[in-house]
Amino acid sequence: MFDNLAQPIPTQRIRYLGVNISIKRLDLIHPYISGNKFFKLKYNLATALQQGNQQVLTFGGAYSNHIAATAFAAQAMGLSSIGIIRGLELQDQPLNPTLSMAQDLGMQLKFISREDYRHKNQPEFLQALHTQYPHSYILPEGGTNSLAIQGCREILTPQEQHFDLICCAVGTGGTITGLIEASHAQQQILGFSALKGDFLSHDVAKLTHKRNWSITDEFCCGGYAKTSPELIQFILEFSAQYHIPLEQVYTGKMLYGIFQMIARGELLASQNILVIHSGGLQGRNIA
Ligand SMILES: *Cc1c(COP(=O)(O)O)cnc(C)c1O
Repeated sequence: MFDNLAQPIPTQRIRYLGVNISIKRLDLIHPYISGNKFFKLKYNLATALQQGNQQVLTFGGAYSNHIAATAFAAQAMGLSSIGIIRGLELQDQPLNPTLSMAQDLGMQLKFISREDYRHKNQPEFLQALHTQYPHSYILPEGGTNSLAIQGCREILTPQEQHFDLICCAVGTGGTITGLIEASHAQQQILGFSALKGDFLSHDVAKLTHKRNWSITDEFCCGGYAKTSPELIQFILEFSAQYHIPLEQVYTGKMLYGIFQMIARGELLASQNILVIHSGGLQGRNIA
């Protein structure tokens, strides 16, 4: 299923205050395995099958694009799937659209407390899961690991070497690391964090030796999945003007940031700017 990607992925040019931006529409790849998750899952699921696993097990919050994408891709490849979902309190509530779709695709949902969820990357926790589900291929939260980074390198193609600035949204850092690894030294990669804090810069610095990148959290609207009336207004106006849908967790914040930087004169008409639309529209929640 990962072989027959409709190539090439369309790139749409838009213009704001005299600055041209090329938007690479990874959101058009698939309605659920959309955007960067397609690239993050590609080599992971191939490896899961090669190793003879019958199941993939992964982690996420209740609105996770990664959970939705994994449920869909696993089913398409004949693997069963388990989603460990953050928040025990959700167990007794009706499923939201992301989780009910995942369940309809055959994903077994296991709710755990926020406290337990914090241990998701610890060796003892993973060992216990492995004992419980011995035939499972375990994917970390957001799907970020070295095979995901390998897949995300393919987002940036040799035809895109003339871009000098590449912008992307950042959640766990796998996507930006792939872009950095695929870039050449004259290209700058700028990440717009969906989360508050500078820990992502430290995480990404551990994943790459290159230095042609930076991550800002200036446009995160206070934190993960937080929004503001200005952000929602921006997303509505942007979609109406350019006919490109955005969502409120990642791509909306990124383009909101890019437009503010253009207005402040920090991005220039002389720059060749490529913006990665990383999809995630299954989680769009804007009236
Ligand atoms: C998951 C996701 C991201 C973040 O990707 P990371 O590799 O975790 O940094 C960005 N945009 C969208 C739409 C996503 O779903």
